[in-house]
Amino acid sequence: MKTIGLVGGMTWHSTVDYYRLINEDVQRRLGGSSSARCVLYSVEFGEFEELQEAGDWDRLTALMVDAALRVETAGADLLVICANTMHRTADSVAAALAIPLIHIADAAAAEIRRSKVKTVGLLGTRYTMEQDFYRKRLETKHGLRVLVPDQGERTRVHDIIYTELGRGIIKESSKAEYLAIIDRLRGRGAEGVILGCTEIPLLVKPGDAPIPLYDTTALHAKAAVDAALDD
Ligand code: GLU
Repeated sequence: MKTIGLVGGMTWHSTVDYYRLINEDVQRRLGGSSSARCVLYSVEFGEFEELQEAGDWDRLTALMVDAALRVETAGADLLVICANTMHRTADSVAAALAIPLIHIADAAAAEIRRSKVKTVGLLGTRYTMEQDFYRKRLETKHGLRVLVPDQGERTRVHDIIYTELGRGIIKESSKAEYLAIIDRLRGRGAEGVILGCTEIPLLVKPGDAPIPLYDTTALHAKAAVDAALDD
């Protein structure tokens, strides 16, 4: 079994789920008392949030490269960035490492294509929904059509992530807002919706809507285990 390297803490609430899902999957596949070999470096998210708001992606990239190198030095054979948003820095991180990076958008796209969905809605932070690094990869590398909510809805989706989910606050009223936004994406032609922020599955589960919802935390964790057990 290879050692899975995780850069987490973005936020720690979803990193807990990564750790649990990876270990559950290894135990299910190998049986007995088996568990995953892993190395975790967890960042200080307060600092990251401020830098994101300031648009200081150069500094964030430097912090991510530093974190990833620590994980590689600690013995990881592959790297997982435990967030969608920080994949904005994925190309620079991958270029600095000798070990492979398992990209979260590729893990999501593989499942979307398996389910034969071609037009997909995308929920996530403002950065994930509005910048190119995630949508473009889905469109150009995976041939998907990507729809995002309108501007007011994007603001609500983003604010709920930062003021609630990232702080461990789960509200039924926010879940209802998310489900209404998912329904409007469906009305515009989305055949499925990517829960493209690793905290969203804390609020909305794949069974909560009449169309497929792609849980990026679970799909990414599974891709990491696939890679770790692929000898
Ligand atoms: N975990 C989140 C994501 O998947 C948001 C927190 C962050 O900005 O990294 O995008």
